[in-house]
Amino acid sequence: MPRTLLAVHAHPDDESSKGAGTLARYADEGVRTVVVTCTGGEAGEILNPAMDQPGNLERMPELRRQELAKALEIMRVGAHYWLGYRDSGMPDTEFNVHPDAFANADLDEAVGRLVRIIRAERPQVLLTYDETGGYPHPDHIRTHEISMPAFEAAANPARYPDAGAPFQPLKLYYHATFTKRRLEVIHTGAIARGIQSPFGEWLESWSNDDWPEPVITTQVDVSRWMAQRRDALIAHATQIDPNSFWFAIPDEVVAEVYPWEDYTLVRSLVPTGDHETDLFAGIGPDGDPLVG
Ligand SMILES: [Zn+2]
Repeated sequence: MPRTLLAVHAHPDDESSKGAGTLARYADEGVRTVVVTCTGGEAGEILNPAMDQPGNLERMPELRRQELAKALEIMRVGAHYWLGYRDSGMPDTEFNVHPDAFANADLDEAVGRLVRIIRAERPQVLLTYDETGGYPHPDHIRTHEISMPAFEAAANPARYPDAGAPFQPLKLYYHATFTKRRLEVIHTGAIARGIQSPFGEWLESWSNDDWPEPVITTQVDVSRWMAQRRDALIAHATQIDPNSFWFAIPDEVVAEVYPWEDYTLVRSLVPTGDHETDLFAGIGPDGDPLVG
């Protein structure tokens, strides 16, 4: 059975802003990578002035599909699935009330759709968001809410009996991308090299009281995949301004001071150490659990 990594994301672009280097690295190392996108990103605004042209907002779903296809190609993602829901929008917007909005979806039904994909792809490793969503958007929280039960339900023959042969993934992780610690290291590293950092004010106002730092169990070195990560994000042209502060610090500096993408291991059916550098630690080359 091939090694397979499955990442569940809320919108087109989330796969490129969280764990993109990881997807690119594992694809290069022969792992089958799978991305599930729960919604079409219909509520997205145009966040890149260069793309703010007449007609684009109306074509948003189509544009975002094209952008996603390009990003997946850059990261050499092996397979992509839409879960088939609509973007729920930020809280208190008109998108919230749409009957097909992901946030309004029947939870069991939505879990079932993910279970079907897990049983078809048989990933040993699942990536999702923590209970805060990592970002206060109802679709991100919903992504967490369906991934957790799906990890167990995929293996249970009594659940969703018509959704394929039961399969138990071995590990489940949360993305731990946006941490104060990481931003601080990059900020300090840039300044030490005489490079202006745009992150100073943001760091000063960043309080861990309302946004606790995640526990990081696993750090994947993606220093050789930074160009792919950058290009994948830029492929989402309506969502990302290539001149924005996200890209202010050169990749060479980031690769030197913080070459990792971080994760929190929350479920594991294989023995693992305190600090991992590989999402497949404890899993053999054939995808079977290593005996501890
Ligand atoms: Zn999102």
